[in-house]
This record gives sequence, structure tokens and C-alpha cells, in this order.
Amino acid sequence: MTTIEFFGGIGVIGSSKIMISTPTARVLLDMGLDIPAERDLFRAPVRERPGFELRDRLAVGFAPEIPGVYDPAQLDPGATLGRPHHRSTAVFLSHAHLDHDGALGFLRPDVPVHAHPDTVLLEAAIAVSGTGGPGNRPELTPMTGTVTVGDIAVEAVPVDHDIPGACGFLVTTPDGTLAYTGDLNFHRDGARFSQGFVDRAAGVDMLVTETTMLSFDIPAGAGEPRTEAEVLDLAEEAMSRAPGLALVSMYVRDVDRAQRLMARAAAHGRTMVWPGQSAALLHHLGVEGVTTWDGSRPQTRCHVEAVARAEASGHGRIRTVSLDAVRASPSSFLIQPDVSDVPSLLDLPLAAPHRPPGTFLPFIHAQGEPLGPFMANWHTYMEWLERLDVTFVGIGSSGHATGEALHKMVMDIHPGVVVPIHGFRPEALQVDVPRLLPEYGTSYTLNGRALR
Ligand SMILES: [Zn+2]
Repeated sequence: MTTIEFFGGIGVIGSSKIMISTPTARVLLDMGLDIPAERDLFRAPVRERPGFELRDRLAVGFAPEIPGVYDPAQLDPGATLGRPHHRSTAVFLSHAHLDHDGALGFLRPDVPVHAHPDTVLLEAAIAVSGTGGPGNRPELTPMTGTVTVGDIAVEAVPVDHDIPGACGFLVTTPDGTLAYTGDLNFHRDGARFSQGFVDRAAGVDMLVTETTMLSFDIPAGAGEPRTEAEVLDLAEEAMSRAPGLALVSMYVRDVDRAQRLMARAAAHGRTMVWPGQSAALLHHLGVEGVTTWDGSRPQTRCHVEAVARAEASGHGRIRTVSLDAVRASPSSFLIQPDVSDVPSLLDLPLAAPHRPPGTFLPFIHAQGEPLGPFMANWHTYMEWLERLDVTFVGIGSSGHATGEALHKMVMDIHPGVVVPIHGFRPEALQVDVPRLLPEYGTSYTLNGRALR
């Protein structure tokens, strides 16, 4: 009999891990780093011990005890969890966000990881930039068409999210079919992919869906989420209102937005300047015209090393710019600061004699760090911006579907049972199909019945 277990994403945004098992095979959808709903014991100022990340996480219950998936080299010698499993096992990655891929480095080297070819390319660039999760560097296999693991067949179905290669999955077992959304939305670029996922998933036995946006109270009259075109128009407006420098914060793994923003900046005569690690990631993916700082602006070592790795990997030199060039012509630049190196803001021409007092200088915020008030570094960063008379300009648009779009999706797919996960309030998904709010680690059948 086919069983489903949920090892994460329950009452939290992220840490998704969905195990589908038959008597001979196991498929694990996503391997996100656990993000506890209440207190994250590993949040700043705690720093994980290199080489002990998995052991330490298991010891405090911040990694699930799934037999036969963990790298024995990262466990205590002889640990039962490190033994190989009798069922063939494979992992499938929906997209390269930390809450889905962050624990891939803990996997046994003999457990294959399959992902969309664009996700595989992106993961390689993440490794070069040194911004991946803990543990080993994950080796991924690009999947095209259907991949079979014993008697389970898995097909990746692209969806619209905010990162290249994002997919949902259709999993066919001897007992029926499960569809998993990964993370998706219906407002970016016309939902050209997400709508296809809905069509393919129609009538599945079980639909496992993300519910990120149901976690938040969206004020009435908030309107539809912004399209990418609107995000870019707002960025352009802020840039054109700024007589001198403009700052921006966006998530570099959203490679499409990064490229479009660089093009908009260029159309305004501005060069976008990235911290070294972000530049390394984009450069490794072959993005043209990526620019970072030269040695005249001291960056932390991780940035310098990332640039060296990206250049050594055969993609040529990364363009650089000097602090003097930026100070001489602030209006020619759009700068993404390194928010983990807050005082480095003081290198930039934010004050006299480079900037007349009171002139508009925007911090254009589009899903970059710090992500929001729920992050430990948010308030400090806002205080710095205020002290430096930099104006916060929020222009973001979530990568996740609105509550309304999720409800429509579920009704259009009309599964035998829907399983809302990956949100603080999964119970807010109120639909006219049977619903399962799963418990951590409990085995369920494909029709949502718990096995005790
Ligand atoms: Zn995501």
C-alpha cells in the first residue's frame, strides 16, 4: 500500500519534505531546511558548527529522523540513521529556495536528487557563490520527462514562482496519483506555467499545496498583487526621481527579475552593482554585464572568494567598478548593498559633499534582504536607513499565490483530498473538497486516512 508522510511544512512556511512510499520504493519531495514555527534555536547570533550541522539539528529535533537518507559521514559513527535503506529512494527538488533545498547537503551520496534542468544550473551557481545550505555540495540530475523509482513515477510540471526552474510534481503510484504544487503563483507573467499545472493535476487523488499567503491578513482593498511589469515600472520611477545614487534590495536567485532590473537601470544610464557573491551567482549563469566592486571597496572575504571561484570556473572576468567612480557620478549607479555588512553603507556617497542634504535617495525594496519585519536584522537596517536619510520604497510582489487564487486552483483541480502545508494557517484553506491537516511523521493513505 502507498503511504504519505509529511516531515515539515506543518504550520510553518517552508521546511517541506513529503515522503511517498510503496513496499519497494520511496520518493521524497523536497529537502528543505527546517524552519521552526516558534523559536529557531539556530537564529542569529547562534552560528552552526561547521561539520556538526546535521548532528546538532537532529539532537534538538530540527531535522526529521528519516531512516536511510542521511550521509553517515555527518552522523555519529555507527548511527542507525546512517544505514542504507532496503527500498530504492530518490529525492525530487521543486525549486532552489532554502526552505526546499537547504537540507540537500545532509543526504547520503548514493541517494539521487532530480530537478528541472534550470534548477540544476542554478544550484551549481549557488555553490560557486558560496550561498548554499550546510553539508555537502548537492549533486543534482536534470530531469526531463518522467523519472521512475521502483513502482513510482514522478513527472516535473513547471509552475510560476519567483525563481528559474520552479516545478510542481505529479507522482503516480500503484494506488493512485498525488500532485504537489511546490511554491507557485498565478499573477506573474500571466501564469503561463501554473495554469498548465492545474490542467495536468485535474482530478488527482491527493493534492498537496502550499498556503503561504493564507498566513497573513491581507487588508481589504489591497487589490491584486503586482505583476513583474508593475514592479519594474515602480523601480524605474524611483530611479528616475533620484538625482544621485539609488539603492536596491532584491533576491538574486530571482534571476529573471535581476536581468530585467539591470536592463531597466541601464536604460536610465545606471549600472547595477552587486555584492561579490550575488555577482558570482549571476555571472556563473552566463548573465551579461554583471558588475561588482573592485579592490577599492573592501568586501568581506566570502564575496572576494566567490568572485574568484566564478572567474576560475571559465566564464571570464566579472566587470568591476571603483568607489571613486561611484562617488564621482552617483547618478550613474544602482547599488545593491550587502545587508549583512551594515556599516559598509558608509562607503557610499550618501552624504555631503556627494549628496546635497534632503535630496531623495531611495532604498528600492523588492523581496531582498532584510525580507521583512519578521527578520532579526530588519529593524536595525531600517534605523540605519533613517539615520542616513535614505527613503524606503517598497515595490515587491510575492512569489506565492493569493488566498483567492489558491482556492480557485483547488476547486479547478478538484482532488480526492487536499493537503494544505507550507503556511502558518493551513486551516484557512476552506474548500468544498475533503481536506487533510496532516500531523508530522504520521503515515496517511492517498485518500487521506491516517494509519496508526
Ligand atoms: Zn519558494
